Amino acid sequence: MSYATRYAEIKAYNPHGLRGTLRNVALDGLATAYQVGGRMERALQRPRVQFLYIHHTFTDELAGLERLIKDLARHHSFISHSEAVERVRNGTIDKPYIAFSSDDGFKNNLDGGRLLHAHGISACFFVNPGLIGLQDMDSVQRICAERLSFPPVEFLRWDDVAELQRLGHEIGSHTMEHRNMAATESALMREDLEQSRQILTEHCGSVSHFAFPYGRFTDITPQSFRDVFTVGFESCASAERGCHIGNGAVPSNSLCLRRDHVVLDWPLGHVRYFLANNALNANAANNLFPA
Ligand SMILES: [Zn+2]
Repeated sequence: MSYATRYAEIKAYNPHGLRGTLRNVALDGLATAYQVGGRMERALQRPRVQFLYIHHTFTDELAGLERLIKDLARHHSFISHSEAVERVRNGTIDKPYIAFSSDDGFKNNLDGGRLLHAHGISACFFVNPGLIGLQDMDSVQRICAERLSFPPVEFLRWDDVAELQRLGHEIGSHTMEHRNMAATESALMREDLEQSRQILTEHCGSVSHFAFPYGRFTDITPQSFRDVFTVGFESCASAERGCHIGNGAVPSNSLCLRRDHVVLDWPLGHVRYFLANNALNANAANNLFPA
């Protein structure tokens, strides 16, 4: 048993099949339709904060990350997660902004972190403190399969986390061990949030940001959303697509960030389509967890 080091191994483990092919054809069509009359260009120039998150930067994905950064830089300024949260909270959104984050804390995040740093970008890495430094192969295999639908992938160690911080990146919580909060009893949920914040604070200094595992609204309960702020986090991110536009101030404890997932081997035209679609459909309700 050994760790997967290439994205090709992940794709072989989770084949997309016909559904993936049809999705690609549909997205090609949508992206082409948006380019007519400069609609895509105008949408991407709209002032907004767009959060983008990745999970991994395997060796065969680093060129894709470089391509993505260069393409996004044509229309956007890159800002840290903290600055992005502040801009959404204050409604000071005067330009198109992108804030990068990465979830799950794989060891290969370090390569992505170094590349982002080389481009002057600060990202937020949402990690599971209970999985940092996990070495026991049976546990790694079980967690990766059950929680992430992955073959075994090596996790970051605490000295890797420290290096990410030295590179100017932020560290946030993603629960202790990637728990689905909608399937967790409420006392345990609160304990998990508190414990993850405490351990990350001990290792990393202050920790302000939280991102829900899985992250769809159906994976977040109203109670778990409130608890994130009660235990002391200052921001809370979902994994629902969308972006944020300026709309006056938003109280911290009602702001639920939208983030778009990106896989680095997707065609750039598809990423542009998702971002343009978010820009065209952005509204004030995007700032809130649905009541
Ligand atoms: Zn996750």
